[in-house]
Amino acid sequence: MAQVYVFKSAFKHRKTLWRRIEIRDDQTLGDLDSIMRDAFKHDDSDHLSEFYPDQSCRNGFGEIDPDGGGSGADIKLRKIGVCEGTKLGYVYDFGDYIEHILAFEGVKNVEENVKYPRITDKSKTKNHYCDSCKEKGKKSVATYVCVDCSDDAEKTVYVCEECAEKEHEDHQIEDILF
Ligand SMILES: [Zn+2]
Ligand SMILES: [Zn+2]
Repeated sequence: MAQVYVFKSAFKHRKTLWRRIEIRDDQTLGDLDSIMRDAFKHDDSDHLSEFYPDQSCRNGFGEIDPDGGGSGADIKLRKIGVCEGTKLGYVYDFGDYIEHILAFEGVKNVEENVKYPRITDKSKTKNHYCDSCKEKGKKSVATYVCVDCSDDAEKTVYVCEECAEKEHEDHQIEDILF
């Protein structure tokens, strides 16, 4: 009988940003990878990733391609030895090396008519305010991060919808991830 594993996954260096993920133990690391890409908005770039038995991110289970192939993709969850206290490591993109931790929270029964893996909960949204508006003494909620301006300023630059159009139209902007 298949069971459902529950993980709380978060950025290693931004633990307040998390998603709770449920996956069947007869599903694979490839399945877990695809929901991780979705959950952390990695799905619009195509880089390799890998899961690790612990958060040191050494001796991984094998790389996973963006198309779902790779030496680590076909390993079933029930084969990797998850137990109480397990914290899997996950690296997305070996260039940017974005580390995540998946803390195992327990097992549940498989629910009928549910498509696994799935995201069942996520961290609460915290508003950021537009930096351009702030300079003009206005306060508006930002929806994007300007990648170019952030690089120049060496800090995260938030922009609202309106400013993104007016002042950052030639810049690379990304949705804020909550
Ligand atoms: Zn603005
Ligand atoms: Zn900009």
